[in-house]
Amino acid sequence: MTTVFHRAPKRTLPVAVAGDGIEIIDSTGKRYIDASGGAAVSCLGHSNQRVIDAIKRQAQQLAYAHTSFFTTQPAEELADWLVERAPQGLEHVYFVSGGSEAVEAALKLARQYFVEKGESERRHFIARRQSYHGNTLGALAIGGNAWRREPFLPMLIEAHHVSPCYAYREQREGESDDAFMQRLADELESKILELGPQTVAAFVAETVVGATAGAVPPVGDYFRKIRAVCDKYGVLLILDEIMSGMGRTGYLYACEEEGIAPDLLTIAKGLGAGYQPIGATLVSGKIYDTIVGGSGFFQHGHTYIGHATACAAALEVQHVIAEEHLLDNVKARGEQLRARLREHYAQHEFIGDVRGRGLFVGVELVQDRATKTSFDSKLALNAAIKREAMQRGLMVYPMGGTVDGATGDHVLLAPPFICTAGDIDNIVNRLTDAIEGALRAAGVR
Ligand code: PMP
Repeated sequence: MTTVFHRAPKRTLPVAVAGDGIEIIDSTGKRYIDASGGAAVSCLGHSNQRVIDAIKRQAQQLAYAHTSFFTTQPAEELADWLVERAPQGLEHVYFVSGGSEAVEAALKLARQYFVEKGESERRHFIARRQSYHGNTLGALAIGGNAWRREPFLPMLIEAHHVSPCYAYREQREGESDDAFMQRLADELESKILELGPQTVAAFVAETVVGATAGAVPPVGDYFRKIRAVCDKYGVLLILDEIMSGMGRTGYLYACEEEGIAPDLLTIAKGLGAGYQPIGATLVSGKIYDTIVGGSGFFQHGHTYIGHATACAAALEVQHVIAEEHLLDNVKARGEQLRARLREHYAQHEFIGDVRGRGLFVGVELVQDRATKTSFDSKLALNAAIKREAMQRGLMVYPMGGTVDGATGDHVLLAPPFICTAGDIDNIVNRLTDAIEGALRAAGVR
């Protein structure tokens, strides 16, 4: 893990001074291909003039107005844009400044909805192992990353975890996709019954798992089955698309491919593409009407809700993506990226899985392909891959060690939507070199 304190006595990170398309340039002039978009953020690359101009225009006109006094045109236009394209039933938007805040808002909206409905016993949240929903206390509590939660356990609200839809690790030998999905849906149902259906508020899941397990897409109609279980017991479905949403999978909302709509949907990262910090929780009409028709307001709030400059930047990001048909490029380049990685690594003794959707791709490393045994986390292979990649002018997002003892080291790739076929080849070549360098440095080769 890299330290993120500033004014640290010993500076270990290069100083980023400029951006140029898909590259970041440091103070020595060295260029890095941003093959992870930071953490799946920079979907337009780093120097989009249209977005820069939109920020300038808005800042000159009105940078910020507090939402207890005003709404603003960019906030309203962005909310319209998001809702017009959202899965059915999501009709309102609650803007925040980042991913964790979006998740906190979703948890509290779910809870307040049931309080307003007179079902105040509903307080339990069920999520999945090997998930990440943010680092603030509520989001951390529902996340299923044991390592991140461990030091803070006494401070976390109670949350419950079921198995993830992580085919590479969780699907049993000889188990069909149907049987696998049914087993997972049954596990959720059993958990709801065990807790008492009248006490369960919501089930929370990443549509495509991001940081904790590396771009793991759901199998078949897993989410249809999950939606049906939630509906049977009046449990809300919260989908976290903070990493996987806003076009990353080739669809504006990742759940479009699942054919279901959640009750609450969280987005961030690609929404503002890193040009401004912004996130949002999309809210169903049913939840909004119950809260607004009840006590009249959502008992929550932050200073920068609907920040005008952030909304103006995000709106322009979304216009650029639509007008330049970048989601088509995400689909095409994503296919190419996975195909190239699979070609390169088909015979690789230490690469167990290549997976993902669109330009959201994970590569999982294992010590033994047959048994899927992970490398010893003491080798810190993922940190070595990051170091070797940075030396070669490549940013990738490696995570792992053995989270819950159940996932190995992996590399997450999330390059900007503007990348070309040549860029994809460069990324794969540099990554292959970096992995070999890391295996040598760790003494595996
Ligand atoms: N949910 C998911 C799925 C994420 O990937 C992240 C960030 N990696 C978050 C929540 C938290 O977002 P933030 O870091 O902006 O608070």
